[in-house]
Amino acid sequence: MYQNFKTHLQAELSGIEQAGLYKKERIIISPQGAVIRVADGKEVLNFCANNYLGLSNNAELKDAAKKALDSHGYGVSSVRFICGTQDIHKQLEASIARFFGTEDTILYAACFDANGGVFEPLLGEEDAIISDALNHASIIDGVRLCKAQRYRYANADMEDLENQLKTSQAQRFRLIVTDGVFSMDGNVAPLDKIYALAEKYNAMVMVDESHSAGVVGNTGRGVTERYNLRGKIEIITGTLGKAFGGAIGGFTTGKKEIIDLLRQRSRPYLFSNSIPPMVAGAGIRMFEMMDETNELQDKLHKNTAYFVERMKAAGFDIKPTESAICAVMLYDAKLSQEMAAKLLSEGIYVTGFYFPVVPKGQARIRVQISAAHETEHLDKCIAAFTKVGKELKVI
Ligand SMILES: *Cc1c(COP(=O)(O)O)cnc(C)c1O
Repeated sequence: MYQNFKTHLQAELSGIEQAGLYKKERIIISPQGAVIRVADGKEVLNFCANNYLGLSNNAELKDAAKKALDSHGYGVSSVRFICGTQDIHKQLEASIARFFGTEDTILYAACFDANGGVFEPLLGEEDAIISDALNHASIIDGVRLCKAQRYRYANADMEDLENQLKTSQAQRFRLIVTDGVFSMDGNVAPLDKIYALAEKYNAMVMVDESHSAGVVGNTGRGVTERYNLRGKIEIITGTLGKAFGGAIGGFTTGKKEIIDLLRQRSRPYLFSNSIPPMVAGAGIRMFEMMDETNELQDKLHKNTAYFVERMKAAGFDIKPTESAICAVMLYDAKLSQEMAAKLLSEGIYVTGFYFPVVPKGQARIRVQISAAHETEHLDKCIAAFTKVGKELKVI
């Protein structure tokens, strides 16, 4: 039986390879950080992690994780509502709500699950979900699991959003859904305008703050801080797997009744394990640190401005960014791969993206800045870009 299927899979795989889309894993043998060691023992500067605040290997978080390991054990072997809720899970949920200025929070194993489990319990056939065309795959999958009518608007296009809102007026409830920061361009969703349109057309708003939490806004409280909308958005989803230490875990935070109903009906919450005590304990400490000092957010913002300014001065075409994502535009797919490879041999680890991850003719190298980067790291990166950029006649 397997032989035919095996032949089929081999053909699929070689198709992926021939299209140049085969994904290989690069093995890292050190903790995540500004400097990482790869399998051949070489050290490289890392500019492609979501480690925005540099917390992935933070000593205080590791300490908090070890303490929780000792006090609450390794795992809970249960979903939350049977016997998988420890005091620290409740504390972490409260910390997240405080951080975002929301009413309540529900934890998931990942933000992929938060997005997968948010729509179906809340909305039905008579409702509408109006989704940005560039929303994350997990939002798209979550919407697919829900019977609500689907509307789509072009990325951050407010005219298109308004049209979709008009078209969906016959529906009972409307929910506009957007990423906070779009991961390929680094642009922030225009939440002020989205909110105004939501008010005008009687809609609710959901923002996925995965790439914006910890990053956007003066104190890193995300897009709702950036636009003075704290407490006004019905639903926020996010991850503990990016700026917030990078381990694992996701959440939905927002209006109390919404979170309540998710606890009753959200399938990835009801049928999947609780996050490990280590992650809950370290998460609590992480949000305390966010309250104690703004040092990391300030450093990240300073680093990003420094990098963008000098890259532009060197002649690179950088997409306007309001996050820690800097898209160095090359437009040519092959060039993006060649340039990333050459940068790696210069000790700079970045990733080149091209169609279908970004639109045709929009190939780029995505640089992700971190508070873990020191000025010397940024200078080395800029110098390598400049050297390779001249070699490849990009600048
Ligand atoms: C990374 C990401 C996710 C998935 O987060 P996980 O916790 O890793 O599952 C969801 N949404 C957006 C916008 C993301 O960038």
